Amino acid sequence: MTESLLIRPDDARYRGLISGSNTRWVGTPDYIRLALNTEQVVEALQQAVDDELRVVVRSGGHCDEDFTAHGKVRAVIDVSALDAVYFDAQMGAFSVGAGATLGRVYSTLYKRWGVTLPGGTCPTVGAGGHVAGGGYGALSRLHGLIVDHLYAIEVVVVDSDGRVRPVVATRAADDPHRDLWWAHTGAGGGNFGIVTRYWFRSPEATGDDPARLLPAPPAELIVSDVSWSWDELDEAGFARLVSNFGAWHERHSGPESAHLSLFSQLKLQHRSAGSFRMSTQIDADEPGAEQTMDAFLAAMAEGTGATYTVNDRSRVPWFYAVKEWFGFVEAAVARWKVKSTYMRRSLPEPQLDALYRQLTREDYPHPFAMVALVSYGGRINAVESQVTAAAQRDSIIKMLYVTLWTDPSEDERHDRWIRECYADVYAATGGVPVPGEVTDGCFINYADADLADPALNDSGVPWHRLYFKDNYPALQAAKAKWDPREVFSHGLSIRA
Ligand SMILES: Cc1cc2nc3c(=O)[nH]c(=O)nc-3n(C[C@H](O)[C@H](O)[C@H](O)COP(=O)(O)OP(=O)(O)OC[C@H]3O[C@@H](n4cnc5c(N)ncnc54)[C@H](O)[C@@H]3O)c2cc1C
Repeated sequence: MTESLLIRPDDARYRGLISGSNTRWVGTPDYIRLALNTEQVVEALQQAVDDELRVVVRSGGHCDEDFTAHGKVRAVIDVSALDAVYFDAQMGAFSVGAGATLGRVYSTLYKRWGVTLPGGTCPTVGAGGHVAGGGYGALSRLHGLIVDHLYAIEVVVVDSDGRVRPVVATRAADDPHRDLWWAHTGAGGGNFGIVTRYWFRSPEATGDDPARLLPAPPAELIVSDVSWSWDELDEAGFARLVSNFGAWHERHSGPESAHLSLFSQLKLQHRSAGSFRMSTQIDADEPGAEQTMDAFLAAMAEGTGATYTVNDRSRVPWFYAVKEWFGFVEAAVARWKVKSTYMRRSLPEPQLDALYRQLTREDYPHPFAMVALVSYGGRINAVESQVTAAAQRDSIIKMLYVTLWTDPSEDERHDRWIRECYADVYAATGGVPVPGEVTDGCFINYADADLADPALNDSGVPWHRLYFKDNYPALQAAKAKWDPREVFSHGLSIRA
């Protein structure tokens, strides 16, 4: 073992490495092992297995829950240094180290080959957890989920006899390990082994010119940022605005719809913030892009009785917009809790009523509580549910419930609000967005351990159905085959 890469509690670096971005989760592992290559991951995992230590892997450290910092975790294998991004001519695909941040991935692919991947918008998220969870982002309506372009993975697994080895699995129909590839297209991280790298190549790509093997991003975007003052919106106006957002997406989210390059985030902040914003982008080269943006904004405002303030309307290079990410809300972020919903349709009236009630609560005047409605659908919905593990393939909006704070003594207060808010919005279906006509469950990359708590989910629909729907049995089979000793587990891990 390379001693300099083994960090124990008496090491000054230990305190900085026992937490990810969400600092409410602080681990107490015996050590953190920084691996620099696949061989070191094999060695580190073998050591942990031989010592019978509960082990986890961390890449970008953006996990919402305590999965890598749970009190029972004794060994953390940190693969953030496995961050190379390059074209692998032998594989005919782009190799992305599990530790690469999305910012590094986008920057390298763009500068060297003029291509990109339709992954998440936050540049510091790590590929390790993000890809395995079926990541999505601003280009997903145009190009699908990041896993729709996943060609292969290298995963370090533990056999039933405790022997650790790397396995390469591809999406090729005749690959004997194809089930392992499939399991990494939406089950979430921390389930089957340690991914050391992902390879990407779009399924329809042909030839060996790297510049043609992944989507090209737009050259320029038209970006818009507008805000509504809460003082100008009564309950009816608020409901109309949210309904307008839903109605536009009902009309424009089929796989062949026009305007798939339009991506918008309606970020409904609590009333105590005074106002809330909507950020939208569209490919500037889409014919009539300016008019489409205008029509979208007009459709949002229609019948609300309120006027919005234009904070920004500009034309920027796509690459500029990718690098500049301003966060969910303008807040000092240290601690947070999230929940999510896939929407198949616009929000029905009882859900709109509950949203308004919760976002205007006077007993919770917290400006950094937010419910965001995010554009979805398009090419995501061109893929059948079982083709990847990411099962939700006919939604039009993804919702993110989030509250952010800094003071540890306030954890309970913020957890209480977000739980009450979610329970209120989905009161008709046991407090969770069950798969049905309107909602379609939850997103594993926005991990929410509450769903596995019977006190907080009395819908009768288990947490795994909310996340994986009919794909769960195949994920269980992959778990039994590839992690037979259940070395990898966390609050929402696949159980064989
Ligand atoms: C600010 C912010 C913005 C976000 N924006 C988006 C977005 O736009 N789109 C989107 O889809 N998601 C988004 N997410 C969610 C994000 O994709 C997930 O939290 C993801 O799991 C983070 O991956 P990570 O490697 O950074 O996290 P980590 O905390 O390192 O890991 C998360 C989970 O994956 C496991 N894991 C990590 N590395 C590996 C590996 N190499 N092999 C196997 N398992 C591994 C961990 O054990 C853990 O269970 C966002 C999250 C945050 C905090």
